[in-house]
Amino acid sequence: MRKKINIYEKALIGVVLLLLLLFAWTMYSKPEDPNVANANTSAEKSKKETEQNDLHPENIPFTMPRWSLGTILSISSNTKKAALLVEGEKIDAGLGQKLHFARKQNEQKNQAGIANERKQAAGSDNNKATEQTAEQKIVYLTFDDGPFANSTGILKLLQKYNAEATFFMLAPNIKKYPDAVKQMVDDGHAVGMHGVTHDVKQIYQSPQTVVDEMLAGQSEIEALTGVKTNLIRVPYGSKPHMKDHYLDAVNQAGFKMWDWNLDSLDWKYRNEEYVNKVIHDQETAQKDELVILLHEKETTLAHLEQLLKYYSENGYEMKKITESMPPVQF
Ligand SMILES: [Zn+2]
Repeated sequence: MRKKINIYEKALIGVVLLLLLLFAWTMYSKPEDPNVANANTSAEKSKKETEQNDLHPENIPFTMPRWSLGTILSISSNTKKAALLVEGEKIDAGLGQKLHFARKQNEQKNQAGIANERKQAAGSDNNKATEQTAEQKIVYLTFDDGPFANSTGILKLLQKYNAEATFFMLAPNIKKYPDAVKQMVDDGHAVGMHGVTHDVKQIYQSPQTVVDEMLAGQSEIEALTGVKTNLIRVPYGSKPHMKDHYLDAVNQAGFKMWDWNLDSLDWKYRNEEYVNKVIHDQETAQKDELVILLHEKETTLAHLEQLLKYYSENGYEMKKITESMPPVQF
């Protein structure tokens, strides 16, 4: 009996020793980083000893890479989530993909370069200001006397700068360049009438002659595009010709008469000077939303990009006039 027991005992001792060796091997073959060992024990301690589940950022479990994410605020072993402070923004990230995503974002931000960081750091207030005013800054570009052959060029530029505009057109030109009118409507611009003769002696003969010239253009546009517009601008603006009874007549006919509050003088300068004029007037203007008078001239188109660039780079939205807006009148 004794012999048998001894053999079993020896075998048992052998097995136990083997198990101990195996256990010791698995324990000591784990990463040597002291933080890692601390992390495991402190994680267990905090689970057992307290209700608090957050680990100290220094004691991150070894399964979690220590990415440079800015500041790690806390890591919850229960929820498997980390609260991170990345560039001033608090992010709740899961310990898996989201954290990786957060790191990627951080890397991308870093790659954006020192210049960008400087800009962000130095001008965060400025950026806010531009963002705020960007929503409010609107300008209404209006083009008179067309359409012409160069309308296509104007439309291309407007599209390039994501700009809307309003075209007040003469009936004979509408007939001559029907494709331009269609394109304007297709591109989402506003179309309106500017009369037929553009001759003071003819159009302002009576209130009815003004209405008739506008009606002629209105039916032309409607026939071409299907759009019945009531927007009008009278030649040379409403002063001094549009006396009260003239104005009553166009209102009665359902038209919305628009003047402007910034004359580009493109008809006078016929060079880039008109762009400088608009920018100067825009920057010294007391009013928020300006209606700019332009013409569909070759010389206007030649420098139009400069103007569109200015508005675009300065956070303006270039919008079209709508019939529900209260008209700007002299
Ligand atoms: Zn005109």
